[in-house]
Amino acid sequence: MSRECPVCHHAMHAALVRHVQTWQETVVMFEHVPAEVCAQCGEHLFTGEVVDRLNNLLWSLAPPTRTVAVAVYDLAAG
Ligand SMILES: [Zn+2]
Repeated sequence: MSRECPVCHHAMHAALVRHVQTWQETVVMFEHVPAEVCAQCGEHLFTGEVVDRLNNLLWSLAPPTRTVAVAVYDLAAG
């Protein structure tokens, strides 16, 4: 069930990806997330089921598997 990339129309393939998002002023990283990935532009698509899993993890406030430091670059800081 290969889909077409909505951005560049290249064929997409199933892969496990790292997904980073901001949530309540913090940065949260999910690893090994099942996704459809575009090899050409890097677009990731998640099924509704996967999005539900990510949101459930966020709202569960479960302790994370591990934590990492995040580098911040502010374009307004010159
Ligand atoms: Zn693409």
